Amino acid sequence: MLPAFFESVVELITRTSTDLPPDVRAAMAEALATEESGTRAGQALTIIAQNIDQAASCEGPICQDTGMPTFEVKTPVGANQIWMRQQIREAVAEATRRGKLRPNSVDSITGENSGNNLGPGTPIIHFDQWEEPGIEIKLILKGGGCENTNAQYALPAELDHLGRADRSLEGVRKCILHAVWKAQGKGCSPGAVGVCVGGDRTSGYTHAKEQLFRTLDDRNGDPRLAKLEDEIMEEANRLSVGPMGFKGRTSLIGCKIGAMNRLPASFFVSIAYDCWAFRRLGVHLDASTGAISSWLYRDAAPSAPLLDPATVAAGFPRTGREIALSAPISDEQIRALKVGDVVLISGRVFTGRDAVHAHLMKHEPPVDLRGGVLYHCGPVVAKDGDRWRVTAAGPTTSIREEPYQAEILKRYGVRVVIGKGGMGAKTLAGLAESGAVYLNAIGGAAQFYARCIERVDDVSLLEFGTPEAMWHLDVRDFPAIVTMDAHGESLHKDVEEASGQVLATLK
Ligand code: SF4
Repeated sequence: MLPAFFESVVELITRTSTDLPPDVRAAMAEALATEESGTRAGQALTIIAQNIDQAASCEGPICQDTGMPTFEVKTPVGANQIWMRQQIREAVAEATRRGKLRPNSVDSITGENSGNNLGPGTPIIHFDQWEEPGIEIKLILKGGGCENTNAQYALPAELDHLGRADRSLEGVRKCILHAVWKAQGKGCSPGAVGVCVGGDRTSGYTHAKEQLFRTLDDRNGDPRLAKLEDEIMEEANRLSVGPMGFKGRTSLIGCKIGAMNRLPASFFVSIAYDCWAFRRLGVHLDASTGAISSWLYRDAAPSAPLLDPATVAAGFPRTGREIALSAPISDEQIRALKVGDVVLISGRVFTGRDAVHAHLMKHEPPVDLRGGVLYHCGPVVAKDGDRWRVTAAGPTTSIREEPYQAEILKRYGVRVVIGKGGMGAKTLAGLAESGAVYLNAIGGAAQFYARCIERVDDVSLLEFGTPEAMWHLDVRDFPAIVTMDAHGESLHKDVEEASGQVLATLK
């Protein structure tokens, strides 16, 4: 068949997972230049930029959530798509084995992780034919945090702060602004939105995601949609949600809108939100060998770093006001912390996400969590001999644990929860009752945080799969910001309210 096809796809997956395309890099460089250094938003963007450079230089995943691999393939008429599908699936399994993809395919009934990213519906592969002689493969890796912030509206609709959205481009505008506001930092802002006006519920979401294959500087061929894209970029950034929802000047780095015909009775607006870790690349392959003949979105040369190497080597940009903490942490230490404080955690940290939280509601923890630190994180891990090593370890979206968190704090005496995107009213009350704080780490900064982990000491509940297991990590100077304290204050609530007031002015 095509002798180089398999390795070409592995190379595409590796590059996509580890090196952002030039248009996204340029948008992040602009965001970094726009935000004041020393602010929470500035610090977050500096960590993100360091992470982007670290990932590219070590060929490690930019974010630990390597997402749902979605391939768009175009082949010449008569090409064997059955064989290619099988090769792409094997390349996904190989990239997972090499640690470029996290095992992310979970049986929806049993919760079992297939371990190789293969399963019914994963990866997503769409084939099309074209009249060209070569093969084109585009790939997007879109993680769960931003996928969960996707939104679909059926117009007419009543929207918070914006009132009625009618069946018009004006109504579409309101839906997009509403979706960006609603996402806050949960999808790791600054993000980009792909939008579909029309279609049905399924084709609308598919077309919205397809818009994310356009580059951020691409100009819409439809002048009405081009104008709307420009308006959204200007107005969404006026909301000041900012990087990670910390408040700041850049909330959105791209808005791409497409349209499809619809049934007279339906008017859907479908929005696919992608995070700053906007991993999208493509290749053209020689149809006789499968070798890469050219790259899409980039050239073959290595990416230029965003920061000078000294800034990357310096690590977290300190102000001197950081507070050092290590477990076990006392009630007094926790109650001394206030929203906005920057904390450097050292010592023992336990990871725990969806499966661990559900487990702890019914079973005693496998370790003593009193005074401890619980990190919402599903790392990428590798095994060297009999020792585990973390290769990517940023925070996951915390709001999913909202039904459990307050109870877990109270039952087991956890003092610090680290995650991203913030949590809700129940957890805020639980923090005050139990004497605990929520720290927001920088979502997607998987390489940056992996370098704060000195050792993996042990692992519990490995039967849940590597992303869902409870890892016992020894960390040093792990930086995160207090965004919910033990006094009932929440930065997330404040930013949501303030941006909601701005949203109301955009009616
Ligand atoms: S950057 Fe954030 S939203 Fe994007 S994949 Fe990573 S954790 Fe998920």
